[in-house]
Amino acid sequence: MPIVEMPGTDADLLQALQDANLPTLLMVIVQLTGDESWMSERLAPAPIVAPEGSLFPDDSGDYSAETAEEIRTAAFDLLTRLRDTRGEVPGPPTLEAMTEMMSFSVAEPVSPEYTAMLMEETRFVDRDEQWRKPLAEMLELGPLDDFNVIIVGAGMSGICVAAKLKLAGIPFTILEKNTAVGGTWFENTYPDCGVDTPNHFYSYSFERNPNWSGYFSKRDELYAYFERCTDEFGLREALRLETEVVRMQFDESIGQWSVDVQTSDGAKETLSANVVISAVGQLNRPNMPDIEGIDTYQGPLFHSARWQHEVDLEGKRVAVIGTGCSAVQLLPKTAEIAEKVTVFQRTPHWISPNRDYYRPVEKGLIWALNHIPYYAEWHRARMIFGFGDRTWPAVNADPAWSHPERSMNELNDGMREALTAYIEEQLGKRRDLAPKCTPDFPVFGKRLVIDNTWYPTLARDNVDLVTEGIARITPDGVETVDGTLHAVDAIIVATGFRSNLFLWPMEIVGRSGTSLADRWGDYPRAFQGAAVPDYPNLFCLYGPNTNIVHGGSIIYQTECQVHYVMQCIVLMVEKRLRSMEVREDVNDEYNDQVQAISETLAWGHPGVHSWYKNSQGHVVNNSPFSLQKFWEINHDLVADHYVLE
Ligand code: NAP
Repeated sequence: MPIVEMPGTDADLLQALQDANLPTLLMVIVQLTGDESWMSERLAPAPIVAPEGSLFPDDSGDYSAETAEEIRTAAFDLLTRLRDTRGEVPGPPTLEAMTEMMSFSVAEPVSPEYTAMLMEETRFVDRDEQWRKPLAEMLELGPLDDFNVIIVGAGMSGICVAAKLKLAGIPFTILEKNTAVGGTWFENTYPDCGVDTPNHFYSYSFERNPNWSGYFSKRDELYAYFERCTDEFGLREALRLETEVVRMQFDESIGQWSVDVQTSDGAKETLSANVVISAVGQLNRPNMPDIEGIDTYQGPLFHSARWQHEVDLEGKRVAVIGTGCSAVQLLPKTAEIAEKVTVFQRTPHWISPNRDYYRPVEKGLIWALNHIPYYAEWHRARMIFGFGDRTWPAVNADPAWSHPERSMNELNDGMREALTAYIEEQLGKRRDLAPKCTPDFPVFGKRLVIDNTWYPTLARDNVDLVTEGIARITPDGVETVDGTLHAVDAIIVATGFRSNLFLWPMEIVGRSGTSLADRWGDYPRAFQGAAVPDYPNLFCLYGPNTNIVHGGSIIYQTECQVHYVMQCIVLMVEKRLRSMEVREDVNDEYNDQVQAISETLAWGHPGVHSWYKNSQGHVVNNSPFSLQKFWEINHDLVADHYVLE
């Protein structure tokens, strides 16, 4: 058992206890003492509520000042005693104990299935043990010289799976087209770029960062995190930057992929691997809009993900095309310096208030996350609970609901009302813009955009919201269908990504000689988003139908998938498999189910036109599952789903 060691002074601890969340602290006390009397009715926290103006539910417990002081004093006495006597940190709770503790601390029933997921997310249970045990036995027979893996992409997913392969002792190479790791967090540098998931959740479960400076950190801090992870996981020597995969083909005779790469200096090379893992993401190929005359524009024109910092927008007339997350994030800072900004909106998004968006993490909380035993674990567990599947009921269609054209169910309709009122309130003197700003699709039809003063920015005197369609771009600006020419000095296209073309533009040729692009078109169907019949030994991370809309962190989804893929790879090593190919019938059945469920969810609603849907209206990007369910389906590999050779 490790000894309780806490650096710093009593004053540091007192400050930490002041900033700490009390229901979280109570669970720390229960776990450190084993004394369940701390879970008495008298100390029960109030239920979690979602207050207006915050995306973070209020989970403070709503204690009286007296009870709050009692909890803090008890924590102080306990922690200083353990520190001074060099007491031991007890082990993690059992599933039963954690279920009981979670249910108490969030003041609502938490199922054992949900807790099982939280046990892994907190690392009370090390999920890697599931594949490490069989692998360790194999490795006792000698190193794996004849087996190697190629990972395509060194963004969040590539780094995640590389970390696990490194831990496993399985040889791998990471190929990255960019000059640095970080993927989306390297490429996107537009003003105010940042994450819309609470950072203490948007971080690897096995590399929590207790030092996030904000509740929603900005791009530079996120990019630095992934650079740091690359070093800490020891991945540099396996990393080849500025190396783009152009084509790969499965060689049936030897059960290997031959992978054609091109480096930034134009050199070509062919590599080979037993397994290829695509970690290219869904949002990395900018979607340049197909607008007539776009090439004739004479000023600077660039995509939000290819920001041209050398273009000085100060005092300029700027056009922003698009009103998705990227446009929302970049608009306020752009409007502050530009002479005028004209925003071209095709469809308004639902935008959620969030008073914590720019809030720095309190110093005491950072201390608690670093030094109070188990505080970080309980903090993460409760954050996942509060920010994850609690919104799931709002996304499911109620067949008896009387307004299916505008919302999914009563709860969803209530959110619609609240967000509609928010639009009016925020627009202030420009309330006249409200009809233009109010979406006609259900809340959660698209991921809620987090508010960063979007509406007050639209209401500024130097900002124009244009909802007429764009007819063409001329040498001088943007012409709308009503014949108006909006003359501008620069155009920013925040028009999203080529997200339906998974793995594009790589050419991937499978067992039968068919390219994956031909097989899929814009209707990709992969088993659990990871495996495709006819493409053995190829696994995708953040592949088709794995994106999340209702809440949660995409890192969570990736970790679930990485856990699954690691089991596949270990099975290949263990059984000395030449190839592992998902069965066609298994893939069909899975995807039929995915589509059937998707039709009943907010993002499958016929009124939603989004990057989640393909040209036929099928949802191809989003997961149809709650976070817990996604964890469950990825948790245990069923070898029978595959043809093993
Ligand atoms: P997006 O959500 O796809 O938004 C693209 C915008 O451009 C939409 O408003 C779209 O209108 C408009 N558009 C596209 N083509 C157009 C055309 N030809 N003419 C006029 N308008 C056009 O892209 P994004 O804002 O870059 O965001 C993509 C995803 O990245 C997000 O959904 C989110 O998952 C992620 N993201 C996250 C963050 C964050 O964490 N904070 C920040 C940025 C992005 P329609 O709506 O009518 O199609």
